[in-house]
Amino acid sequence: QILNEFLDLKGNIRVFCRIRPITSGENCGHLRPVVASDSNKVVLKLMNSKSKSYNFDKVLHPGSSQDEVFTEVEPIIKSVLDGYNACIFAYGQTGTGKTFTMEGDEDTPGIVPRAMEALFKQAVDSNRAFLISFSMLEIYMGNLKDLLVPKPTKATYPMPPCLSIQTDPTGGVEIDNLVAIKVNDFNQALRLYRLGCRFRSTASTNSNLTSSRSHCMIRVAITCFNAPERRRETNKIWLVDLGGSERVLKTKAWGKRLNEGKAINLSLSALGDVISALQRKRHHIPYRNSKLTQVLKDSLGNDSKTIMLVHVSPKEEDLCETICSLNFATRVK
Ligand code: ADP
Ligand code: MG
Repeated sequence: QILNEFLDLKGNIRVFCRIRPITSGENCGHLRPVVASDSNKVVLKLMNSKSKSYNFDKVLHPGSSQDEVFTEVEPIIKSVLDGYNACIFAYGQTGTGKTFTMEGDEDTPGIVPRAMEALFKQAVDSNRAFLISFSMLEIYMGNLKDLLVPKPTKATYPMPPCLSIQTDPTGGVEIDNLVAIKVNDFNQALRLYRLGCRFRSTASTNSNLTSSRSHCMIRVAITCFNAPERRRETNKIWLVDLGGSERVLKTKAWGKRLNEGKAINLSLSALGDVISALQRKRHHIPYRNSKLTQVLKDSLGNDSKTIMLVHVSPKEEDLCETICSLNFATRVK
């Protein structure tokens, strides 16, 4: 309760910045860090000893652990059981650690597995009857693809049904045909998550080894049954690993890669427009401009809670993209 009051006080959209550490392969001595910070500020060291600073609700410095990151996002995960919808986004150039933050690795799990574990624990602790379902989809080239439905391998297999977005009169969003699997415990949810990760569309790009040219979206929906009145209420949290934000013309991409990049760039700017309009309490919120924002319509805005984690590289050669990402962060703040 106190946590929620705290969040309300601070507004419903919070913007964090996570700075990736220099990884062992890159450490070449003369590399000077481009990004320095205190707990709310990112400072870019530019040419001629000039610098530019950007403010955030929180800065996660290169040494911050997955634990520390999760501590920062945990309050909005708690708020889902209190009746709010929520979204957590990982934004940034390819290679800045979006997937590391959301998925993590075997030893240091990221936000998605930790959030699912926390949700189950809280639901059990609340002593209420509840039902949790798990869904996972990808938006690739403007199309929605269910990540829990395997791609048919033989021509004779039926194609999976098309996913389409419906809005009900109360403003709720439904995705037709999206598989939502009831999960009884954390391990079941984790198994589905791992399965979904295997079906993601990935491809090599010029700007990094393997990158995802799609948005990967996890939806955990929780229905709580309020025993005395038998009333039920469903809330959901979206956990989104966004496609790389690098500008396509810079990546020397062509053909299919170029089109993938353009689709990502368009939907990211549509997302920026929506969040910016919400922050400025605009009358019109342009949800309709991308599939991404249409899917999230009932979980972004109103009294939903949102955390945008903007990821940046510490490397000098990435300075241009870092500035773009920090400008995006300024727009959504
Ligand atoms: P993205 O999803 O944004 O393209 P990744 O999450 O794949 O980036 O990260 C790129 C590489 O950097 C991966 O090898 C990842 O393990 C590593 N990495 C990213 N962030 C961190 C971090 N905070 N600590 C340690 N390694 C990281
Ligand atoms: Mg990634």
